[in-house]
Amino acid sequence: MEHPGSMAAPVSDTIGAEIYALAARLYPICRSITGDGVRETLSILSETVPLERHEVATGTPAFDWTIPREWSIRSATIRDSAGRPVVDFADHNLHVLNYSIPFRGTLKLAELKQHIHTLPDQPNLIPYRTSYYAENWGFCMAHNRLAALPDGDYEVEIDAELRDGSLSYGEYLHRGETDREFLLSAHICHPSLANDNCSGLALLACLAARLRERKTRYSYRFLFAPGTIGSLAWLSRNEDVTERIDHGLVVSCVGDGGGPTYKRSRRSNAFIDRAMAHVLAHQTAPPKLLDFSPYGYDERQFCSPGFNLPVGLFQRSAFGTFPEYHTSADNLDFIGPEHLGLSYRIISSAIEIVEGDWTPLSLSPKGEPQLGRRGLYAALGGDKSTGLSAMSLLWVLNLADGHHSLLTMAERSGLTFAELAAAAELLRSNGLLADAATPPRS
Ligand code: ZN
Repeated sequence: MEHPGSMAAPVSDTIGAEIYALAARLYPICRSITGDGVRETLSILSETVPLERHEVATGTPAFDWTIPREWSIRSATIRDSAGRPVVDFADHNLHVLNYSIPFRGTLKLAELKQHIHTLPDQPNLIPYRTSYYAENWGFCMAHNRLAALPDGDYEVEIDAELRDGSLSYGEYLHRGETDREFLLSAHICHPSLANDNCSGLALLACLAARLRERKTRYSYRFLFAPGTIGSLAWLSRNEDVTERIDHGLVVSCVGDGGGPTYKRSRRSNAFIDRAMAHVLAHQTAPPKLLDFSPYGYDERQFCSPGFNLPVGLFQRSAFGTFPEYHTSADNLDFIGPEHLGLSYRIISSAIEIVEGDWTPLSLSPKGEPQLGRRGLYAALGGDKSTGLSAMSLLWVLNLADGHHSLLTMAERSGLTFAELAAAAELLRSNGLLADAATPPRS
């Protein structure tokens, strides 16, 4: 086994820079819950990790839902009476209401305003709006631009199409020693919003590429699917797989400097809930730990009562709490390599706990074993070369009654999992501990 916590060490932010660069490539693409934007995004992600691509046809049922028609958009403009563009989709893909039906016509300003979305409180930003399941056309623009428009006739043209097609999602499975799985999922349906969720897509692709290089105990399934309808499509086609999921994280908004935030699974005390709480408790910034609620991202589907999977949500700033959320200010300046790097290390640390947890059994439980005789006295004396604190050895020895896993010891001692895991390895290699699951015959 690798040294526990090795992926968690803040050595450099090459990984943060790598995730940022990938997020930056995804940012300009106009995505939606269906269409070529999702396919193009999956193609770019596949350069980092080979994704299995799936297409689910329009009209396919997914529990109580149906895969919608596929949306494509070529252009969308509003022109003034002189033919000058007032709003142009080519300038920013948030300008068009996502899933807008096609429209062409000339309207008075008052009529046009019925179809324009703005943010009066953030008058310079373009909002992100969708109309997936109600047929509508519309534009989004800065409130100040709208307020400055003179009365008159405006020529509107939305060259879009809704036709039978398919919904696309991508999946990558890293096979571990067992077929028990850790699910990592990021929504792929938002257009140019950097934190929500180019950050999550890029982070998971880079994580999958790293895991691919190593042997793991668990199998890791990465899912890049459109929000709600994509996870429902996946769940409806993979009910057998869900029975193998022991841990899971939905990952979104992981590129800003807020949080970190973890929302517990519906089970509230699943192993992943404890692992994330432990990792976050040892961050310098005070973490936000939220109880499950049925609002948010695809944990809503994974934690629906028919599945009740142990899947939590990891974010930096919680969704809806930052002013840039769902606006044009959620751009590449809002996310940073250092934040992406930290988010990566937090998730990696949770994976190290899932991978490295075991339950030690002391082979010398009556009184403290004599550590000096085994050359462990130096470690106890605070020898810096071992990197271990005396307390980590003492806690592991004391709690090694076969009823405390390393994570339980970490929770009880206040020490880090990585520290206790290293101490336990040292004690095991010195014959003082066995794995309670496979004790040696005496
Ligand atoms: Zn969102």
